[in-house]
Amino acid sequence: MTAHTEEPSVEERERAWMDEAIRMATDSVANGGGPFGALVVKDGEVVAAGNNQVTANLDPTAHAEVSAMRAACKQLNSFSLEGCVLITSCEPCPMCLSTALWARLDRIVFSADRNDAAVGGFDDRRFYDLFEKKPRSMWPTRVEQLDLPYRTAPFDAWLAKSDRVDY
Ligand SMILES: [Zn+2]
Repeated sequence: MTAHTEEPSVEERERAWMDEAIRMATDSVANGGGPFGALVVKDGEVVAAGNNQVTANLDPTAHAEVSAMRAACKQLNSFSLEGCVLITSCEPCPMCLSTALWARLDRIVFSADRNDAAVGGFDDRRFYDLFEKKPRSMWPTRVEQLDLPYRTAPFDAWLAKSDRVDY
């Protein structure tokens, strides 16, 4: 038997992580979750994983990607996921995409896209269409400003706080 020490390529490793995310997404269905799975990877290692738990936890934010990012932040003891890659079974919805931006993730790799999700009965594409194509006046949730003279007081307090941790 010859020693085969060749390291898997980046593409092979990402393929393996994606296989894992898709497997988690499929298993999630049998375990009462939604059909989504995600991993956060840093320096070639899986930091954390998550599957969709919206109905199981009565939590509309418990998408696989948000769950994986929350767990990764706990694991890394940081609110920043700079240097990390999100591997997700499906294209992130606008909430998960925003969370990834807030977390300063380096990259997102997805497999199924928003159209696949729509066929599966999920609103990702509809929400993308709302944000990208529809004025706020046409959204199902009304968003209104109540303009008060002291509306910037929280920001004034924040900017005046010398020991704040910027994020
Ligand atoms: Zn999402």
